[in-house]
Amino acid sequence: MAIAARSSLLQHVQHLQHLQHLQHVQHLQHPSAPLSTDCRQISPVYNPVMSCLFCRIVAGEIPSSKVYEDDRLFAFTDINPQAPMHVLIVPKVHVATLNDLTAGEDGLVGQMVRRAAALAAERGFAQSGFRTVFNCNAAAGQTVFHVHLHVLAGRTLAWPPG
Ligand code: 5GP
Ligand code: ZN
Repeated sequence: MAIAARSSLLQHVQHLQHLQHLQHVQHLQHPSAPLSTDCRQISPVYNPVMSCLFCRIVAGEIPSSKVYEDDRLFAFTDINPQAPMHVLIVPKVHVATLNDLTAGEDGLVGQMVRRAAALAAERGFAQSGFRTVFNCNAAAGQTVFHVHLHVLAGRTLAWPPG
């Protein structure tokens, strides 16, 4: 394919993905708003990593309210916060679910958990308390298939969770 045609196709795909992201955000804020097709139907060159919402946030392609970054982790405020503090900590490497973690990533998961404690402490929630949650797959409510640790604090959190 000629270079010009490839570049125009890529721009078209990026435009459609951007529209899909806006629709996704609107759906989160107003659950009655419809969601369109998934990106496999939009992109003729579907790539599970670069079509991943959190990979795109880590890459800076989609804006986020960053609260922390190092060479392995990225943390940002949840777009639909469920508590006064609601931060998501994600590994920079794409791992879809907890089921896909390997022994080589044990250290990475430890860093995520310790970063959650550090971010909660920075905001004064170490003693009063905070909650960390990893949702895995549909029945647990996972909607973004890139491992992420929710960190919630600033209100009394009920147990058991819904
Ligand atoms: P899950 O339901 O997969 O455990 O959590 C996904 C979280 O990602 C949800 O709490 C949702 O509000 C959040 N989220 C989804 N899309 C975006 C986005 O584009 N930006 C941000 N900051 N958070 C998002
Ligand atoms: Zn990803």
